[in-house]
Amino acid sequence: MHLVFASNNQNKIKEIQLLLPGYIQILSLEEIGCFEEIPETAATIEGNAILKANYVTEKYGYNCFADDTGLEVEVLHGDPGVYSARYAGEQRDANDNMDKLLDNLKDKTNRKANFKTVICLKINGQQHLFTGIINGQIIEEKIGTNGFGYDPIFVADGHTKTFAELTIEEKSTISHRGLAVKQLVAFLSR
Ligand code: IMP
Repeated sequence: MHLVFASNNQNKIKEIQLLLPGYIQILSLEEIGCFEEIPETAATIEGNAILKANYVTEKYGYNCFADDTGLEVEVLHGDPGVYSARYAGEQRDANDNMDKLLDNLKDKTNRKANFKTVICLKINGQQHLFTGIINGQIIEEKIGTNGFGYDPIFVADGHTKTFAELTIEEKSTISHRGLAVKQLVAFLSR
């Protein structure tokens, strides 16, 4: 089975590839000749996942899945949420985003946060959504060099290392994206 994964994020592609059984072959956007930036203009994480998947199926005609992820911080009422990529500005820089978040959480004792991933699958004209959520804490400094985005400042509940200290296999086993992908695989294998 061939499915387009509507992302150019190499970290996400690697994480997802690890969890897919051999019979599901991912086609990249490059492989289908899609080189333009896919709009992410919805007001919710779900909405952006749907936008991205619809874009590929409508414009290129492939079965496709897209993921959208946000970091939701309790004391910030769910921010940065759907704006996680652009939290510190249009340069979409992970270090700037983390610095802004750490600054906004300075002196805050409630450090609770969760990552939320929604995967939208468009297959044979039908749409299916899968959600993965992992709860944890935002620590006070960046630790670790693996992963991407906010990984250096997020420690999942029940763990002591940040996501950026885990191997890609360890992260995928427990992460928001891993949880959503497992539901996608269960659905496709049914
Ligand atoms: P996207 O719109 O799904 O690409 O994700 C929005 C932003 O959330 C990204 O730019 C990253 O900063 C952050 N993000 C997404 N997934 C992860 C993750 O697995 N770990 C840390 N940050 C992530």
